Amino acid sequence: MPVALITGISGQDGSYLAESLLADGYQVHGIVRNSTEENLSALGSHAALTLHSVDLQAPDALENVVALTSPDEVYSLAAISSVAASWKDPVQTGAVNGQVVVRLLEAASGVQERSGHPVRVVHASSAEIFGQAAETPQVETTAIRPSSPYGASKAYAHLTVGVYRGRGLHASNTILYNHESPRRPETFVTRKITASVARISAGLQTGIELGNLDARRDWGWAPDYVAAMRLAAAAPNPDDYIVATGVSHTIADFLDAAFARVGIDDWSGLVAVNPEFVRPVDPAEQLGDASKAHRELGWAPSVDFETLVARMVDHDLEHFAG
Ligand code: NAP
Repeated sequence: MPVALITGISGQDGSYLAESLLADGYQVHGIVRNSTEENLSALGSHAALTLHSVDLQAPDALENVVALTSPDEVYSLAAISSVAASWKDPVQTGAVNGQVVVRLLEAASGVQERSGHPVRVVHASSAEIFGQAAETPQVETTAIRPSSPYGASKAYAHLTVGVYRGRGLHASNTILYNHESPRRPETFVTRKITASVARISAGLQTGIELGNLDARRDWGWAPDYVAAMRLAAAAPNPDDYIVATGVSHTIADFLDAAFARVGIDDWSGLVAVNPEFVRPVDPAEQLGDASKAHRELGWAPSVDFETLVARMVDHDLEHFAG
């Protein structure tokens, strides 16, 4: 039975990834820091799932779990995952998103050397490493020049993955563009919109305050992005892969689609722009070219923008307004 270790298993991607690996017969170890993991509740007490309650920043704790579980595949997902949160605590963001990943790589490398069995590592890198991108669409070789503490922390981890690859570890970066699902918390703009739209349509909320409505993002369906991580782990050679839909939309487009789903065509009186929600430095457009992942991994997104928004709104109608 292949063994996988996931950091960040309680998050959006970690929970989808765990479900996918368990369905394929993996033994899955997940590192958690809280005892209540809403996203994992669907798995219940799956016999092949073991959760390890570990402080990733405690000396030797992470290293001990890697040595104990001796995984075939390691998925590095734990992160302070929002740009906004990274501005609130840039130092902690560097520690969790950067240093912890380096320690994970070192630990995986150590297990590989000691045991002689190969360990494959996939890191959840981010489009934010490109900051105000030098070119559009972005490809794997686009200049790395982050514009937030989040992007800088991801860039450090991303580059260190390359360092360990050079040292013989099968270590890959999936450079993930925004991907959403009903498991996104409301601290992210997409879920804030779909949850608010559901509550507005049920008469439970009167309006939404948002930041820059013109920001363009390349939004995909989270389970598709988790599938790309697994394909990267299974590839003959480790590498870096952009994972994106190649289609971008504005926040206003997202609002159009979400409100249309509940039969509201004119949302102008329901949405207010609050400068508090505008990011200090915001990449105007993120758009990824995933041709390499398509060519080398056989990966392609399966859910388009309209379907993604509809799925999230429908979930929230049931969840908040049902
Ligand atoms: P998420 O839902 O925010 O999940 C983040 C995970 O990291 C959670 O399990 C969280 O644990 C854990 N975590 C956060 N801070 C931690 C800490 N100090 N110590 C230990 N664990 C900590 O993120 P996601 O959307 O699944 O994203 C997965 C990965 O992909 C992240 O690395 C993210 O940066 C990257 N990524 C995501 C996107 C996207 O659009 N979703 C785009 C690019 C890159 P708790 O449950 O205990 O908080």
